[in-house]
Amino acid sequence: MGVPTPIYLDHAATTPVRPEVVAAMLPYFTTYFGNASCTYELGKASREGLDRAREQVAAVLGCRPREVTFTAGGTEADNLAILGVARALSGRGRHIVTSAIEHHAVLYTCRALSEDGWRITELPVDAHGRVNPADVEEAITDDTVLVTIMHANNEVGTVQPIAEIGRVTRRRGVLFHTDAVQGFAHVPTPVDELGVDLLSLSGHKFHGPKGVGALYVRKGVRLSPIQFGGKQERGLRPSTENVAGIVGMGMAAELAAAEMDTEVARQTALRDHLIARLLALPDTRLNGHPTLRLPNNVNVSAAGVEGEALNLRMGMHGIGTSTGSACTTGSPTPSHVLTAMGVREPWLSGNLRLTLGRQTTLADVDRAAELYAQIVTALRQASPTYRERCTS
Ligand code: PLP
Repeated sequence: MGVPTPIYLDHAATTPVRPEVVAAMLPYFTTYFGNASCTYELGKASREGLDRAREQVAAVLGCRPREVTFTAGGTEADNLAILGVARALSGRGRHIVTSAIEHHAVLYTCRALSEDGWRITELPVDAHGRVNPADVEEAITDDTVLVTIMHANNEVGTVQPIAEIGRVTRRRGVLFHTDAVQGFAHVPTPVDELGVDLLSLSGHKFHGPKGVGALYVRKGVRLSPIQFGGKQERGLRPSTENVAGIVGMGMAAELAAAEMDTEVARQTALRDHLIARLLALPDTRLNGHPTLRLPNNVNVSAAGVEGEALNLRMGMHGIGTSTGSACTTGSPTPSHVLTAMGVREPWLSGNLRLTLGRQTTLADVDRAAELYAQIVTALRQASPTYRERCTS
């Protein structure tokens, strides 16, 4: 096997910054370097950059620009949503409903609150990784102040019934946060139709820069800051604004929205082609929902192989993939997402995530499928337990 040009199939981990985005950012490092809080021209130029980015992000969410608070990434947006509601509403109740398959930015924030005496309900999911809205309804009590359920899962790509859950939370008068870090600017996330009060997003997942994100906060929602300092972002997120990063994220959001329809169709076709090719190999299975999944997400398990060994070999042959969320790569513990979905061995440890992007071609996915088949076959030949299983 020769080493071909590297192929990047790990867009759920991060994405390359688009050249148009870099071009939009550059003047804010040099010409317009001013602090956006300053009143002279340089400060005004930075302020205008922030205002434009806020409008660009708001346009994709279908909300008012004032409802967008910039943060230093998706993790910070999740923390601000959950801890901010908890601080603001602890007098009303001390119960939060979430799901067992959330990103750790949500799950560990909720678990930190449980150490402070909060009651946290982690809802189960079905075999495809979906939360049942009826379970949400049942979990809500008089003490519940927040429901936080992710929009789409970062490992298996399953998209949740957010609008249905939104109808439940509205009816029950409980705030609803969704972590839309994986879906925002990839698929439509109109906040009114989804019925969410808070939504997190992150620039580096849609060809913007790293270290910048945003939290949508519906007008009228009571949220306390969790960091203290200046008056930036209406006091909700103090610290001198990362103007260049925010400008870049705004531009990336606008560009992604303009090509969303064509990219969704193109990537869905590539995704389904890749899934069909990977599943053509015996003893393989798809993780996540067959259709209600992000257009760019493929997550498959092969019996008789270790996902991490497979992932390393894919990388050695120039194909960037992952076994799940980047934060847990290399960790010996099995994925909490697959475990919650009821995935058992031999599928649990044999999974690989391949996530496509706007530059991914048919030739890329065909090459990945070819290599996958070769590596899985080689690993299985080297595995006495797999050979035994096939001959018994
Ligand atoms: N939430 C989800 C679903 C994610 O996939 C990620 C990143 O992988 C995050 C939150 C954290 O975002 P960030 O890396 O911007 O902190």
